Amino acid sequence: MDTIQEKLRKPRQIVITTHFKPDGDALGSSLALYHWLNNQGHNVNVVVPSDFPYFLDWLPGRERILIYTQDLENANKLVADAELIFCLDFNGLSRTNEMAPAIAAAKGIKVMIDHHLEPENFDDYRFWDSTAAATAQLVYHFIANEMKDANGITPEIATCLYTGIMTDTGSFRFRTTSADIHRIVADLIERGAENWKIHELIYNSNTERRLRFLGFCLANRLKVLSEYNTAYFAITKADLEQFGIQTGDTEGLVNYALSIQGIRLAALIIERKETIKMSFRSIGNFPCNEFSRNHFNGGGHLNAAGGHSDETLEKTIEKFNRILPLYQNLLTQ
Ligand code: 5GP
Ligand code: MN
Repeated sequence: MDTIQEKLRKPRQIVITTHFKPDGDALGSSLALYHWLNNQGHNVNVVVPSDFPYFLDWLPGRERILIYTQDLENANKLVADAELIFCLDFNGLSRTNEMAPAIAAAKGIKVMIDHHLEPENFDDYRFWDSTAAATAQLVYHFIANEMKDANGITPEIATCLYTGIMTDTGSFRFRTTSADIHRIVADLIERGAENWKIHELIYNSNTERRLRFLGFCLANRLKVLSEYNTAYFAITKADLEQFGIQTGDTEGLVNYALSIQGIRLAALIIERKETIKMSFRSIGNFPCNEFSRNHFNGGGHLNAAGGHSDETLEKTIEKFNRILPLYQNLLTQ
Protein backbone atom coordinates (compact mmCIF):
# COMPACT_ATOMS: atom_id res chain seq x y z
CA MET A 1 0.00 0.00 0.00
CA ASP A 2 2.98 2.30 0.55
CA THR A 3 3.87 1.92 -3.12
CA ILE A 4 0.31 2.70 -4.18
CA GLN A 5 0.25 5.74 -1.90
CA GLU A 6 3.55 6.86 -3.43
CA LYS A 7 2.23 6.39 -6.98
CA LEU A 8 -0.89 8.41 -6.15
CA ARG A 9 1.15 11.43 -5.06
CA LYS A 10 0.98 12.91 -8.52
CA PRO A 11 -2.02 13.05 -10.87
CA ARG A 12 -2.38 9.77 -12.77
CA GLN A 13 -4.35 8.36 -15.64
CA ILE A 14 -6.51 5.73 -13.94
CA VAL A 15 -9.05 3.12 -15.02
CA ILE A 16 -11.35 1.37 -12.57
CA THR A 17 -13.01 -1.81 -13.73
CA THR A 18 -15.15 -4.58 -12.28
CA HIS A 19 -16.87 -7.83 -13.26
CA PHE A 20 -19.35 -8.66 -16.02
CA LYS A 21 -22.95 -7.76 -15.12
CA PRO A 22 -21.82 -5.64 -12.17
CA ASP A 23 -23.94 -5.84 -9.03
CA GLY A 24 -24.41 -3.33 -6.21
CA ASP A 25 -21.04 -4.07 -4.65
CA ALA A 26 -19.16 -4.02 -7.95
CA LEU A 27 -20.64 -0.66 -8.98
CA GLY A 28 -20.81 0.83 -5.49
CA SER A 29 -17.17 0.12 -4.73
CA SER A 30 -16.03 1.20 -8.22
CA LEU A 31 -17.88 4.52 -8.09
CA ALA A 32 -16.79 5.20 -4.51
CA LEU A 33 -13.17 4.77 -5.52
CA TYR A 34 -13.84 6.83 -8.65
CA HIS A 35 -15.07 9.80 -6.58
CA TRP A 36 -12.20 9.57 -4.13
CA LEU A 37 -9.46 9.35 -6.77
CA ASN A 38 -11.14 12.06 -8.82
CA ASN A 39 -11.26 14.34 -5.76
CA GLN A 40 -7.52 13.67 -5.34
CA GLY A 41 -6.94 15.23 -8.76
CA HIS A 42 -6.47 12.10 -10.88
CA ASN A 43 -7.95 11.54 -14.31
CA VAL A 44 -10.24 8.59 -13.62
CA ASN A 45 -12.46 6.50 -15.89
CA VAL A 46 -14.78 3.68 -14.88
CA VAL A 47 -14.98 1.06 -17.64
CA VAL A 48 -17.28 -1.91 -16.99
CA PRO A 49 -17.61 -5.05 -19.15
CA SER A 50 -21.40 -4.95 -19.58
CA ASP A 51 -24.63 -3.21 -18.73
CA PHE A 52 -25.95 -3.29 -15.16
CA PRO A 53 -29.30 -3.52 -13.33
CA TYR A 54 -31.71 -0.59 -13.70
CA PHE A 55 -32.08 -0.33 -9.91
CA LEU A 56 -28.45 0.82 -9.72
CA ASP A 57 -28.91 3.46 -12.39
CA TRP A 58 -29.08 6.31 -9.87
CA LEU A 59 -25.72 5.80 -8.14
CA PRO A 60 -23.73 9.04 -7.92
CA GLY A 61 -21.31 9.06 -10.85
CA ARG A 62 -23.13 6.44 -12.96
CA GLU A 63 -23.19 8.88 -15.91
CA ARG A 64 -19.40 8.60 -16.02
CA ILE A 65 -19.46 4.82 -16.54
CA LEU A 66 -18.30 3.57 -19.92
CA ILE A 67 -19.68 0.18 -20.98
CA TYR A 68 -16.83 -1.63 -22.71
CA THR A 69 -18.84 -3.36 -25.45
CA GLN A 70 -20.70 -0.15 -26.33
CA ASP A 71 -17.59 1.91 -27.10
CA LEU A 72 -14.74 -0.46 -27.86
CA GLU A 73 -12.44 2.11 -29.42
CA ASN A 74 -12.51 4.58 -26.54
CA ALA A 75 -12.56 1.89 -23.87
CA ASN A 76 -9.56 0.05 -25.34
CA LYS A 77 -7.61 3.29 -25.52
CA LEU A 78 -8.40 4.20 -21.91
CA VAL A 79 -7.37 0.74 -20.67
CA ALA A 80 -4.18 0.72 -22.76
CA ASP A 81 -3.18 4.24 -21.68
CA ALA A 82 -3.96 3.88 -17.96
CA GLU A 83 -1.01 4.13 -15.57
CA LEU A 84 -3.02 2.35 -12.90
CA ILE A 85 -5.89 -0.09 -13.33
CA PHE A 86 -7.97 -0.81 -10.24
CA CYS A 87 -9.71 -4.18 -10.52
CA LEU A 88 -12.61 -4.31 -8.08
CA ASP A 89 -14.79 -7.18 -6.88
CA PHE A 90 -13.33 -9.94 -9.07
CA ASN A 91 -10.49 -12.40 -8.67
CA GLY A 92 -9.89 -13.69 -12.20
CA LEU A 93 -9.76 -11.94 -15.57
CA SER A 94 -12.36 -14.28 -17.06
CA ARG A 95 -14.94 -12.51 -14.86
CA THR A 96 -14.57 -9.47 -17.14
CA ASN A 97 -15.64 -11.49 -20.22
CA GLU A 98 -14.88 -9.59 -23.48
CA MET A 99 -12.77 -7.06 -21.63
CA ALA A 100 -10.25 -9.63 -20.37
CA PRO A 101 -7.76 -9.48 -23.29
CA ALA A 102 -7.54 -5.68 -23.05
CA ILE A 103 -6.79 -5.78 -19.31
CA ALA A 104 -4.31 -8.63 -19.73
CA ALA A 105 -2.43 -6.69 -22.42
CA ALA A 106 -2.49 -3.35 -20.56
CA LYS A 107 0.84 -2.07 -19.28
CA GLY A 108 -0.58 -0.10 -16.35
CA ILE A 109 -0.09 -1.26 -12.78
CA LYS A 110 -2.98 -3.52 -11.78
CA VAL A 111 -4.33 -3.20 -8.27
CA MET A 112 -6.87 -5.79 -7.15
CA ILE A 113 -9.31 -4.89 -4.40
CA ASP A 114 -11.44 -7.95 -3.78
CA HIS A 115 -12.94 -10.42 -1.35
CA HIS A 116 -13.32 -13.61 -3.45
CA LEU A 117 -11.45 -16.76 -2.52
CA GLU A 118 -8.43 -17.98 -4.48
CA PRO A 119 -7.51 -14.94 -6.54
CA GLU A 120 -5.65 -15.56 -9.79
CA ASN A 121 -2.34 -13.86 -10.43
CA PHE A 122 -3.15 -11.17 -12.96
CA ASP A 123 -2.51 -8.25 -10.60
CA ASP A 124 0.61 -6.39 -9.43
CA TYR A 125 -0.71 -5.22 -6.05
CA ARG A 126 -3.49 -6.64 -3.98
CA PHE A 127 -5.77 -5.34 -1.24
CA TRP A 128 -7.61 -8.56 -0.62
CA ASP A 129 -9.49 -10.15 2.26
CA SER A 130 -11.79 -13.10 1.73
CA THR A 131 -13.42 -12.51 5.12
CA ALA A 132 -14.65 -9.08 4.02
CA ALA A 133 -18.40 -8.96 3.47
CA ALA A 134 -18.08 -6.69 0.45
CA THR A 135 -15.47 -5.09 -1.74
CA ALA A 136 -17.00 -1.80 -0.58
CA GLN A 137 -15.86 -2.64 2.96
CA LEU A 138 -12.30 -2.97 1.60
CA VAL A 139 -12.58 0.30 -0.32
CA TYR A 140 -13.70 1.95 2.92
CA HIS A 141 -10.59 0.59 4.69
CA PHE A 142 -8.44 1.54 1.71
CA ILE A 143 -9.56 5.17 1.86
CA ALA A 144 -9.99 5.60 5.62
CA ASN A 145 -7.11 3.49 6.98
CA GLU A 146 -4.57 2.80 4.25
CA MET A 147 -4.75 6.25 2.62
CA LYS A 148 -5.68 7.84 5.96
CA ASP A 149 -8.38 10.01 4.46
CA ALA A 150 -11.60 9.20 6.33
CA ASN A 151 -12.56 12.85 6.02
CA GLY A 152 -12.30 12.49 2.25
CA ILE A 153 -15.41 10.27 2.37
CA THR A 154 -18.00 12.61 0.86
CA PRO A 155 -21.77 11.95 0.87
CA GLU A 156 -21.42 10.55 -2.68
CA ILE A 157 -18.69 8.13 -1.61
CA ALA A 158 -20.63 7.18 1.54
CA THR A 159 -23.72 6.47 -0.60
CA CYS A 160 -21.79 4.25 -3.02
CA LEU A 161 -20.06 2.32 -0.22
CA TYR A 162 -23.30 1.88 1.73
CA THR A 163 -24.93 0.45 -1.42
CA GLY A 164 -22.11 -2.06 -1.93
CA ILE A 165 -22.19 -3.25 1.66
CA MET A 166 -25.99 -3.35 1.85
CA THR A 167 -26.37 -5.43 -1.33
CA ASP A 168 -23.51 -7.87 -0.63
CA THR A 169 -24.72 -8.57 2.92
CA GLY A 170 -28.34 -9.09 1.84
CA SER A 171 -29.27 -5.95 3.79
CA PHE A 172 -27.05 -6.82 6.77
CA ARG A 173 -28.46 -10.34 7.14
CA PHE A 174 -25.69 -12.67 5.98
CA ARG A 175 -23.20 -14.34 8.29
CA THR A 176 -20.51 -11.97 6.99
CA THR A 177 -22.30 -9.05 8.67
CA SER A 178 -19.76 -8.39 11.40
CA ALA A 179 -19.59 -5.74 14.07
CA ASP A 180 -16.96 -4.04 11.88
CA ILE A 181 -19.56 -3.79 9.11
CA HIS A 182 -22.04 -2.11 11.45
CA ARG A 183 -19.41 0.37 12.63
CA ILE A 184 -18.49 1.20 9.04
CA VAL A 185 -22.12 1.60 8.08
CA ALA A 186 -22.76 3.86 11.08
CA ASP A 187 -19.82 6.00 9.97
CA LEU A 188 -21.13 6.09 6.38
CA ILE A 189 -24.54 7.29 7.60
CA GLU A 190 -22.83 10.03 9.61
CA ARG A 191 -20.88 10.99 6.51
CA GLY A 192 -24.04 11.44 4.45
CA ALA A 193 -25.34 8.08 3.23
CA GLU A 194 -29.13 8.34 3.42
CA ASN A 195 -29.72 4.70 4.31
CA TRP A 196 -33.52 4.73 4.08
CA LYS A 197 -33.40 6.36 0.65
CA ILE A 198 -30.85 3.82 -0.65
CA HIS A 199 -33.09 0.95 0.51
CA GLU A 200 -36.04 2.57 -1.21
CA LEU A 201 -34.16 3.07 -4.51
CA ILE A 202 -32.81 -0.48 -4.62
CA TYR A 203 -35.58 -2.60 -3.14
CA ASN A 204 -38.77 -0.66 -3.78
CA SER A 205 -38.13 -0.14 -7.45
CA ASN A 206 -39.92 -3.15 -8.91
CA THR A 207 -41.59 -2.79 -12.25
CA GLU A 208 -44.99 -4.48 -12.54
CA ARG A 209 -43.46 -6.88 -15.08
CA ARG A 210 -40.77 -7.94 -12.68
CA LEU A 211 -43.19 -8.62 -9.85
CA ARG A 212 -45.49 -10.64 -12.11
CA PHE A 213 -42.45 -12.58 -13.33
CA LEU A 214 -41.62 -13.39 -9.71
CA GLY A 215 -45.18 -14.67 -9.20
CA PHE A 216 -44.90 -16.77 -12.36
CA CYS A 217 -41.58 -18.29 -11.27
CA LEU A 218 -42.85 -19.09 -7.77
CA ALA A 219 -45.97 -20.74 -9.19
CA ASN A 220 -44.52 -22.52 -12.20
CA ARG A 221 -40.75 -22.75 -12.16
CA LEU A 222 -39.83 -23.71 -8.61
CA LYS A 223 -38.81 -27.32 -7.94
CA VAL A 224 -38.31 -28.56 -4.40
CA LEU A 225 -36.22 -31.69 -3.86
CA SER A 226 -36.96 -32.40 -0.21
CA GLU A 227 -34.73 -35.48 -0.07
CA TYR A 228 -31.74 -33.21 -0.71
CA ASN A 229 -33.01 -30.09 1.08
CA THR A 230 -32.57 -28.37 -2.27
CA ALA A 231 -34.81 -26.06 -4.25
CA TYR A 232 -34.22 -24.52 -7.65
CA PHE A 233 -35.76 -22.39 -10.36
CA ALA A 234 -35.18 -23.22 -14.02
CA ILE A 235 -36.09 -20.34 -16.32
CA THR A 236 -36.32 -20.69 -20.09
CA LYS A 237 -35.40 -18.15 -22.73
CA ALA A 238 -39.11 -18.03 -23.66
CA ASP A 239 -39.99 -17.09 -20.04
CA LEU A 240 -37.51 -14.21 -20.19
CA GLU A 241 -38.98 -13.03 -23.47
CA GLN A 242 -42.59 -13.37 -22.33
CA PHE A 243 -41.99 -11.06 -19.37
CA GLY A 244 -39.49 -8.78 -21.11
CA ILE A 245 -36.88 -9.58 -18.47
CA GLN A 246 -33.84 -7.30 -18.41
CA THR A 247 -30.52 -7.20 -16.59
CA GLY A 248 -31.19 -7.17 -12.87
CA ASP A 249 -34.75 -8.45 -13.04
CA THR A 250 -33.72 -11.93 -11.85
CA GLU A 251 -31.51 -10.59 -9.05
CA GLY A 252 -32.60 -11.97 -5.68
CA LEU A 253 -34.94 -14.60 -7.16
CA VAL A 254 -32.75 -17.45 -5.91
CA ASN A 255 -33.24 -16.27 -2.31
CA TYR A 256 -36.94 -17.19 -2.43
CA ALA A 257 -35.92 -20.81 -2.98
CA LEU A 258 -33.47 -20.58 -0.10
CA SER A 259 -36.13 -19.12 2.20
CA ILE A 260 -38.14 -22.37 2.24
CA GLN A 261 -37.97 -24.07 5.63
CA GLY A 262 -35.24 -26.73 5.77
CA ILE A 263 -33.69 -25.83 2.39
CA ARG A 264 -29.89 -25.72 2.48
CA LEU A 265 -29.08 -25.33 -1.21
CA ALA A 266 -30.90 -23.11 -3.68
CA ALA A 267 -30.13 -22.68 -7.36
CA LEU A 268 -31.27 -20.44 -10.17
CA ILE A 269 -30.71 -21.82 -13.66
CA ILE A 270 -31.39 -19.36 -16.45
CA GLU A 271 -31.27 -19.96 -20.17
CA ARG A 272 -29.63 -16.70 -21.23
CA LYS A 273 -28.89 -15.80 -24.83
CA GLU A 274 -25.24 -16.72 -24.72
CA THR A 275 -25.09 -19.43 -22.06
CA ILE A 276 -26.91 -21.16 -19.18
CA LYS A 277 -26.21 -18.91 -16.17
CA MET A 278 -26.34 -20.48 -12.74
CA SER A 279 -26.53 -18.99 -9.25
CA PHE A 280 -26.12 -20.97 -6.05
CA ARG A 281 -26.93 -20.01 -2.48
CA SER A 282 -26.60 -22.10 0.67
CA ILE A 283 -27.17 -22.03 4.37
CA GLY A 284 -24.54 -23.50 6.70
CA ASN A 285 -21.53 -25.45 5.46
CA PHE A 286 -22.56 -26.37 1.95
CA PRO A 287 -19.77 -24.98 -0.27
CA CYS A 288 -21.46 -23.30 -3.23
CA ASN A 289 -18.08 -22.15 -4.58
CA GLU A 290 -16.64 -25.69 -4.67
CA PHE A 291 -19.87 -27.08 -6.12
CA SER A 292 -19.86 -24.44 -8.84
CA ARG A 293 -16.15 -24.78 -9.56
CA ASN A 294 -16.29 -28.57 -9.80
CA HIS A 295 -19.36 -28.84 -11.98
CA PHE A 296 -20.35 -25.52 -13.54
CA ASN A 297 -17.19 -23.56 -14.50
CA GLY A 298 -17.71 -21.06 -11.71
CA GLY A 299 -16.79 -20.03 -8.21
CA GLY A 300 -17.54 -17.42 -5.58
CA HIS A 301 -18.08 -17.64 -1.85
CA LEU A 302 -19.04 -20.49 0.49
CA ASN A 303 -22.70 -19.45 0.65
CA ALA A 304 -23.04 -17.62 -2.69
CA ALA A 305 -21.53 -18.61 -5.98
CA GLY A 306 -22.23 -18.59 -9.68
CA GLY A 307 -21.23 -20.38 -12.82
CA HIS A 308 -22.40 -21.37 -16.26
CA SER A 309 -23.04 -24.37 -18.45
CA ASP A 310 -22.58 -24.71 -22.19
CA GLU A 311 -25.06 -27.57 -22.46
CA THR A 312 -28.79 -27.17 -23.09
CA LEU A 313 -31.10 -26.11 -20.26
CA GLU A 314 -32.53 -29.61 -20.10
CA LYS A 315 -29.09 -31.26 -19.93
CA THR A 316 -27.97 -28.75 -17.30
CA ILE A 317 -30.98 -29.50 -15.09
CA GLU A 318 -30.33 -33.23 -15.55
CA LYS A 319 -26.71 -32.78 -14.53
CA PHE A 320 -27.69 -30.70 -11.48
CA ASN A 321 -30.08 -33.45 -10.35
CA ARG A 322 -27.47 -36.13 -11.07
CA ILE A 323 -24.75 -34.58 -8.89
CA LEU A 324 -26.88 -33.85 -5.82
CA PRO A 325 -26.51 -37.43 -4.47
CA LEU A 326 -22.72 -36.82 -4.30
CA TYR A 327 -23.45 -34.13 -1.72
CA GLN A 328 -26.16 -35.98 0.18
CA ASN A 329 -24.27 -35.95 3.49
CA LEU A 330 -23.54 -32.25 3.37
CA LEU A 331 -27.11 -31.50 2.39
CA THR A 332 -28.92 -33.69 4.88
CA GLN A 333 -26.80 -34.24 7.97
P1 5GP B 1 -24.46 -14.41 -8.65
O1 5GP B 1 -25.15 -15.70 -8.38
O2 5GP B 1 -25.11 -13.28 -7.92
O3 5GP B 1 -24.22 -14.17 -10.09
O4 5GP B 1 -23.02 -14.55 -8.02
C1 5GP B 1 -22.81 -14.91 -6.69
C2 5GP B 1 -21.35 -14.91 -6.39
O5 5GP B 1 -20.66 -15.84 -7.20
C3 5GP B 1 -20.68 -13.58 -6.61
O6 5GP B 1 -19.81 -13.36 -5.52
C4 5GP B 1 -19.90 -13.73 -7.87
O7 5GP B 1 -18.72 -13.02 -7.81
C5 5GP B 1 -19.64 -15.22 -7.97
N1 5GP B 1 -19.80 -15.66 -9.36
C6 5GP B 1 -20.90 -15.52 -10.13
N2 5GP B 1 -20.71 -16.04 -11.35
C7 5GP B 1 -19.45 -16.52 -11.38
C8 5GP B 1 -18.66 -17.18 -12.38
O8 5GP B 1 -19.08 -17.43 -13.50
N3 5GP B 1 -17.38 -17.51 -12.01
C9 5GP B 1 -16.88 -17.25 -10.77
N4 5GP B 1 -15.62 -17.62 -10.50
N5 5GP B 1 -17.60 -16.63 -9.81
C10 5GP B 1 -18.86 -16.27 -10.10
MN1 MN C 1 -18.73 -8.33 -3.88
